[in-house]
Amino acid sequence: MNLILLGAPGAGKGTQAKRIEEAFSVVQLSTGDMLRAEVKAGSPIGREADAIMKGGQLVPDSMIIGLIDARLDRDDCRGGFILDGFPRTLPQAEALDAMLQKKGLKLDTVVSIEVDDEAMVGRISGRFTCAKCGEGYHDSFKPTKAAGVCDVCGATEFTRRADDNAETVRKRLKAYHAQTKPIIAYYDRRGLVQRVDGMRRIDEVTEQVISALRPKT
Ligand code: AMP
Repeated sequence: MNLILLGAPGAGKGTQAKRIEEAFSVVQLSTGDMLRAEVKAGSPIGREADAIMKGGQLVPDSMIIGLIDARLDRDDCRGGFILDGFPRTLPQAEALDAMLQKKGLKLDTVVSIEVDDEAMVGRISGRFTCAKCGEGYHDSFKPTKAAGVCDVCGATEFTRRADDNAETVRKRLKAYHAQTKPIIAYYDRRGLVQRVDGMRRIDEVTEQVISALRPKT
């Protein structure tokens, strides 16, 4: 199964992608994670992307299309993949179609996680992640059980994304509405989009996503 997860920043794409990975044995391809890895490694792509990401803008289409094109050729994508954070513009969606056709692959579903913008500012601003195992937390909605200790692996180091502050989140939401939202209509025309209510509790969103992905009898 090959699918795209769409949704505004903070809609919960990453959280739901991890759960879909487990439920359907497919691999999550997060372009945000790929870019953050490039920034950390100090590669030429990372050096170019760093300031753009910190400013809440989108990196150039050509940069991200090249990364995804190469990533889809890796063996772990053979069992299916979840695109998390890609495509984010119409040219990216068109490039994805061309690249899937070239590789003999097909898109099965587009899941759109629908949320209210204002709630996203609060949701994103308090996010942090365990530096060791990657478990995600939130200052208000999902704090660690013991202060400063990861519930999952016991580590005591955490990271916060440089672009997870209220000012940048508003810019990211603006970019989402201007550049990404139009691609829902692009996939709607092909009958591929399934919408879920992303304002519900995380487990309830997962239930909706999983039922959207199960073959209909
Ligand atoms: P994310 O982790 O998906 O929220 O992405 C973080 C940031 O990485 C975005 O705000 C963009 O600056 C950049 N980014 C990630 N995916 C893309 C994409 N498909 N196109 C352009 N920029 C992207």
